[in-house]
Parts: sequence; structure tokens; C-alpha cells
Amino acid sequence: MNTKEKIEALRQELREHNYNYYVLDNPTITDFEFDMKLKELQELEGKHPEFYDPSSPTLRVGGGITKNFNTVVHEQRMYSLDNSYSKEDLEDWEKRIQRILGDAEVEFTCELKYDGASINLTYEEGKLVKAVTRGDGFQGDDVTTNIKTIRSVPLQLKGDYPPKFDIRGEIILPLDGFAKMNEERIAAGEDPYMNPRNTASGSLKLQDSAMVAQRPLDCLLYGIVGENTGITSQYEMLKKAREWGFKVPSIAQLCKSTEEVMAFIDAWDVKRHSLPYETDGVVVKVNSVQHQEELGYTAKSPRWAMAYKFKAEQVSTILKEITYQVGRTGAITPVANLEPVLLAGTTVKRASLHNADQIEKLDIREGDTVFVEKGGEIIPKIVGVDLSLRPADSKPTHYITHCPECGTELVRTEGDAKHYCTNFYGCPTQITGRIQHFISRKAMDIEGLGAETVELLFKEGLIRNYADLYVLTKEQVMPLERMADKSAENLVKGVAESVNIPFERVLFALGIRFVGETVAKKLAKAFKNIDALMAASVEGLMAVDEIGERIAQSVVDFFQNERNLEIISRLRSYGLQFEISADKLLNQTELLKGKTFVVSGVFETISRNDLKKMIEDNGGKVGSSISSKTSFLVAGDKMGPSKRTKAESLGVPIISEQDFLGMVK
Ligand code: AMP
Ligand code: ZN
Repeated sequence: MNTKEKIEALRQELREHNYNYYVLDNPTITDFEFDMKLKELQELEGKHPEFYDPSSPTLRVGGGITKNFNTVVHEQRMYSLDNSYSKEDLEDWEKRIQRILGDAEVEFTCELKYDGASINLTYEEGKLVKAVTRGDGFQGDDVTTNIKTIRSVPLQLKGDYPPKFDIRGEIILPLDGFAKMNEERIAAGEDPYMNPRNTASGSLKLQDSAMVAQRPLDCLLYGIVGENTGITSQYEMLKKAREWGFKVPSIAQLCKSTEEVMAFIDAWDVKRHSLPYETDGVVVKVNSVQHQEELGYTAKSPRWAMAYKFKAEQVSTILKEITYQVGRTGAITPVANLEPVLLAGTTVKRASLHNADQIEKLDIREGDTVFVEKGGEIIPKIVGVDLSLRPADSKPTHYITHCPECGTELVRTEGDAKHYCTNFYGCPTQITGRIQHFISRKAMDIEGLGAETVELLFKEGLIRNYADLYVLTKEQVMPLERMADKSAENLVKGVAESVNIPFERVLFALGIRFVGETVAKKLAKAFKNIDALMAASVEGLMAVDEIGERIAQSVVDFFQNERNLEIISRLRSYGLQFEISADKLLNQTELLKGKTFVVSGVFETISRNDLKKMIEDNGGKVGSSISSKTSFLVAGDKMGPSKRTKAESLGVPIISEQDFLGMVK
């Protein structure tokens, strides 16, 4: 095989695996094997730029920057959909259709209405050539570079696709991916995103496609437009699109009557809560393309399609009290304390009010009967007030002007929706919040110490910052509520052991605003030790990949603060890690990133602990028991037979010591 053929073969193979993983959700090789093949292709392509192909699977990682998104006129307009809210609405629609079509028998295809950002993809000779947002329906923005990073969008089709056509769909952010993104933001002291839909559409307009590649976006498709596609019905079109490699949910159903349509709607109004993504309704389409053509369009939407909107899960209840939470960064969040009420299967007692503007806009007051909804948000939100039930003596809400915890006057800077308590070093909730962050699992992971104990220790005057933890004695801790001899000992021991936590986690634990886990790792890698980091300028910090001005400024501010410097110098004197460990510097790689290994048995050339360390130093994870998430079982001598059976039954590859050492060479 010559190089060109080799490259083509690898591309073809990777496409197939991509498809199995992201479209079918059914991978046939391990992530590690996939990465190895991708790396091989990257290397070959790097050496042979003459074989460049804009549809190569290597382009998935992004990298292209779009400064200005070009406006593109849609070859065929992207219409809206008419909405219906009841069975009667749907029956009326069916009657209108029948009047136009005479007594022809009409069938319908029901699909879910995916709640994201609409997209139009253009394919020529089986290759994705353009991706454009809906815009105003007549013209949208060219976001091709960003869309290419979405793994479930095929760059190269398979089967007997037409030479040129457009396909439409929705870019969505699945709920678990959305939750994960928010977890990371919260850990970095940033406000969580409000909902998956806005986050998905915002992602499409990011300038750096490498950042888009990191977001767990997905693309669900529902409609092909184009001439001579040979397609005669909506249902057949979905099937064809699947065959060509597109991700088309299998939930679609062909219905012969409004009764069947209603049954589909009723079933999914319930089942939608267990979907991995959000849906706000069902789209009912006349199935026959010929009928569709006869029916045509109104000024705004096709006559042959109708959206049925689910009622948002909404309940009304009484707002008992508005309280205000102070975060570890000083940000104030108003919270509605509600008369407990059942909503979408859970009892709701609290709802977020977001900020002062939100309260003012809806004129929300204590004692009001409010409507509460649950969407993709973490906690439910208040969407309105039932004014007819407002008590006669009701008074408008005056947003607090001073911190409820320390009495400091709140500050709101231009352009920020939130109020802040700026008493960072005196406000009790901010102090305990920072210490709680410091000890948390992903930071210093201090065993034997929990959030409540931190509050107790602070209340008793035993700690005022996280450095104080390191001088606590067993005798001081013992008298605390619910503290036994053993637990006091564990606490002190847990604190002492945490001095071995590596530098990047110490950096995260410090709680510098906007410095989450990933940023902390980047900074640790780039600067190697705290002195270099402390000496860095905003420009110097921004020179590091993915560090923007906001983060850079926050880091500089943190180290300009005398109190922070004093705390850091104390932590240093207690022996915490403030530089990357030497062997890390020498041997660290990301070769095993994303892989989980289970290690079992005895080894010839290396101790089990060293082997585990080697996995971690190369970016892999060590798991304790075999599960479907395990990438490899490293088997030594005298490995238990049950481990082998388990690995075999789950299809986890079993590798030898030599195989493993080969991976990290
Ligand atoms: P609207 O924006 O409320 O007028 O609804 C129309 C939009 O719904 C279209 O632009 C599509 O992006 C979106 N949509 C989501 N799921 C579907 C689907 N299964 N079929 C057609 N359109 C859909
Ligand atoms: Zn305060």
C-alpha cells in the first residue's frame, strides 16, 4: 500500500469508528485504539500535506479561527412551524389539510421537536461543504469550521446519497454534557449557564473552533431539501438519512390518524423526561412528499407541518420568603423559599431568582402565588406571578443593599447582573466557602474533614483561613460537637497527609476566581512553580494556550493581595507542594489520557505501585474494579480468575506488563 492509500484507508476506518461511536452509540474498538489510529493519521497527514482533505477525521479537534462569520443566503428558505397546544388544534389542522387534498388518505410522521439551534448542512458529492445557521430564515451565518468539530456530523457520507442536497437539523447540548460543563464553571467560581439551548447556539458562534470541539455538542437531523433526491415521503427520508450516516433519532413514528398522532404525543409527554436531551414538543408532518407539495407554504411556515408544544412542567405555589445566598466569591444569589410543591416528580422547596433585575422585571414579592417551571436548569425557576391572588397588603421587594452575612454594602459593577459583597476577608460565608472549596475532593481532598466541620471550626474561632487548618491539634478539635477521639485524630491526620497533594491541585484549591481544575493544570504545567506564576504579568499569562484576559487579570489580582501572599507563605512553610514534582517534569505525558486501567497480579520488572504511578503520570486513571468503563486490564502473574472472567465477559482487553510498557514508550 502506498502512502496515499494508507492515509485513505485510515480515514475510512476512523470515519466508520466515529459513526459507530457518535451516531450509533455502539463503539467496536477501545478509545485507546481509536486514538492511536488517529495519531497515526495525523502524523502521516503532517508529513504529506499534498494529500490534504477537508473531510479528514483529523479535523474534528478544531483549531480554525473564524473572526467574522460570513452571511450566506439559504438556497431554500428555512421556515418556522405553526404551533398547536391541544387535540382540537390538531384536528382543525387535519380538516384544513383534507379540504385541500380532497379525499386522499393522509398519513403523518411524528418526530420529537429538538430544542437547540437550527442548522442547514450542504453536502456535495458526499462531503460536507457548508453549515449555516437559520438566521432570519432567509440568510444565516456560515459556521462550517465549528460544525466540523461535532463528531456526529458526518464529513463524508456513505451509501447511495444524491450528488447535492441540504439537510436540516438541530444542534443540541445533551443534558449530562450540559451539567458537566456547569459543574466545571461552578468549580471555577463562574456562574452556570442558564439552559442547554442558549449554550448550544452560543457555542456555534465561538471564534475558536478548538473550544467548540471541547463542548459535548450533538446534531440531530430531520429534513432533506433538494431536487431529484428520489425521496417520496418524510418517513422514508429519515430512513435514508440514517443510511447515509446522519444521526436521526429512531423515535419517529408513522401514524395513520389523528388518534395515533395524539397517542404518540401523550406517550412522549411523559417519556420525554427520561430522554438524554431536551424536547419542547412534537412535530407532526404530512408524510407524502407529493401531498406536501400540494399543500405548500404560508408566509411563515409549511402548511404540511405542525408543532405540538408540550406544556412546560409548571405548578403554582406560595413564595414564603426571599433569602440571599453569598457565594465564596462574594456573589449574591436571591433564592425563593417556597411552600413545598411537587414538580416533574420531585418536591420543590426553593427556586432561583437569579438577580435583582429578574425580581424587578416580574415584580416578584413575598406572599405572592408564583408559577414555577423546571427546564434544563439545575434548580427550578419562577416564571411569573399570579396577580389575581396577590394579598392586599403586599409590598414590593426591596433588593438587599447590604450583605446578609456581614453587613457590608453590596457593590454592582457595570455590566454585571449580580451584586457582590466585597468584604472578601471578613465575610464569614465567603471565608468558610473558600475553606470548603480548599478541602473539596477535586482540590486538597482532605479526608476526615467535611463542610459542616469547617463551619464549626470557624464558629469556634479555630480557623479563619485554610492555612489555619495545618496548625490544628487533636486537643483543639476534640471538644467540637459530634467529634470523637477517633474522628479528631483522622481530621488532623487527613490535613497532614494533604501536603503531598500535587501542585496543580493546590493551585486549584487556592480558589482563585476563574481558575478551575483545567486552568490550574495548564498554569502548573506552563509555570512549573508558584514563584514563576506569582511573577507573571497579564501578558505573560495570556501567552499560555487558552488563558484569556479575564483569567490572567484574576490571577494577577490574587497574587497582588498581601493577605493571599501571607497565606501562601504559611502553606509553604507547612510543606505543601508549590512546584511540579521533578519526576512529573521528566516523565509526564498525556499518552493515556481518557483511559482507565485496572491493575491486578504481580509483575516482573516493576512493582504494582510504580505501574499505577506510571499510568497516572501518563495521564491515565487507575480503577479499582472492572466495569464497562475500564479500558484495559493489566494482568500480572497470579491474577485472580474472577477478574479475568469479568474482563472477558465485558469485552475489556487484557494486556500484559510488556503490552503496557509498550504503550507508554
Ligand atoms: P419555531 O422556531 O418554534 O418556529 O420552530 C421551528 C424550528 O423547530 C425549526 O426551525 C427547527 O429548527 C426546529 N425543529 C426541531 N425539531 C424539529 C423536527 N423534528 N422537525 C422540524 N423542525 C424541528
Ligand atoms: Zn458579606
